[in-house]
Amino acid sequence: MEHSSINQTTAIQEKVDRSANHQVSVFDQMAPHDHEQIVHCFDKATGLKAIVAIHSTALGPAMGGTRIWNYTSDAEALTDAIRLARGMTYKSAISGLNVGGGKAVLIGDPDQLKNEAYLRRFGQFIDGLNGKYVTAGDVNMTLRDLEYVRMETRHVTGLPEAIGGSGSSSLITAYGVYMGMKAAAKEAFGTDSLEGKKVAVQGVGAVGSKLVEYLVKEKAVVFASDVSESKLQRVSREFSAHVVSLDGIYDIPADIYAPCALGATLDDETIPRLTCQVIAGGANNQLADEQQHGVMLRERGVVYAPDFLVNAGGIMAVAAEYFGTYSKNYLFQKAERIYDVCQTVLQQAAQQQTEPHQIAMKMAEERIASIAQLR
Ligand code: NAD
Repeated sequence: MEHSSINQTTAIQEKVDRSANHQVSVFDQMAPHDHEQIVHCFDKATGLKAIVAIHSTALGPAMGGTRIWNYTSDAEALTDAIRLARGMTYKSAISGLNVGGGKAVLIGDPDQLKNEAYLRRFGQFIDGLNGKYVTAGDVNMTLRDLEYVRMETRHVTGLPEAIGGSGSSSLITAYGVYMGMKAAAKEAFGTDSLEGKKVAVQGVGAVGSKLVEYLVKEKAVVFASDVSESKLQRVSREFSAHVVSLDGIYDIPADIYAPCALGATLDDETIPRLTCQVIAGGANNQLADEQQHGVMLRERGVVYAPDFLVNAGGIMAVAAEYFGTYSKNYLFQKAERIYDVCQTVLQQAAQQQTEPHQIAMKMAEERIASIAQLR
């Protein structure tokens, strides 16, 4: 159940671009990034309204979680699905996984809509796609909910351990973030040792708290912020983390900033306040504007470890579960490779004087192009 409360909290505060343009046609939204397919599912009896966005199946089945959100319009939901599906393609491709990118969004109030019939109906729709899209948990979609989906389709992953699934992915995600952070530290400080480094961790939920554990084991000095007092108390008590205010996290004289709560925290207002030389965290879509804020960080000499590269532990776990290759040991070895990939990305970015996330995206695109030829 860890995942449900987590995602709910995160979702409520996640700064998603919800400014969908009602005038733009579906195809005009699919065209810029070559989305393959958009599926709309409707069921009057259960109130199900779902959009499944399949961005790419070049490497394998499109994989990505299902998000339930009370969108203000269908257009807004479509924009979210399209954007998130593409992000999944890049995350999986750079992680060397044989899966593509997809995402499902369910429109409406989860508290009012979610029940067994609703979730099983959704499972039937997913099953109708014959494995072209594989779903998993995301915002407001719990492990328990996925069990209902599983009753109707085998194309769902990230199931509870009790029924043979991989369970919560936060530990492996945190480990991958830690690896990426060390690679970025090596680039910025000449050593990947985090001993004595001041790390500002924003959000000490499932991923953030486990990251803190890795950090203190290495004798880093942790500063933590969270909206939850109890979570702060826990990391303060167990890991001697210094508690800072929600807004104060940007002003801490830290060496490293680790966003592990919300997306889009790197913007015009926060970047000038940060004194860190490294940014590496678990949150998705950390740059408010991919272009502008990536450039801003580079110009300020900040080493930015691309979010979709370092937080890929979760997709590694659910993909392994789906293909029947899940083993904890193997997964940790795989997540450890995030260090090497991140190092390559950062070195190339430095050589080419460009932003690391642009290099990471290019590497993902190159892998997709070369493997697509084989199929
Ligand atoms: P979580 O909900 O357990 O943790 C998020 C924490 O952030 C919560 O404790 C919440 O109280 C806190 N928070 C909310 N608003 C905040 C604010 N303004 N300032 C500081 N803290 C705030 O979620 P999680 O599973 O730990 O995921 C964290 C981030 O990592 C999310 O962006 C998620 O999308 C991303 N992510 C998670 C995984 C995973 O495996 N869980 C995988 C990839 C990416």
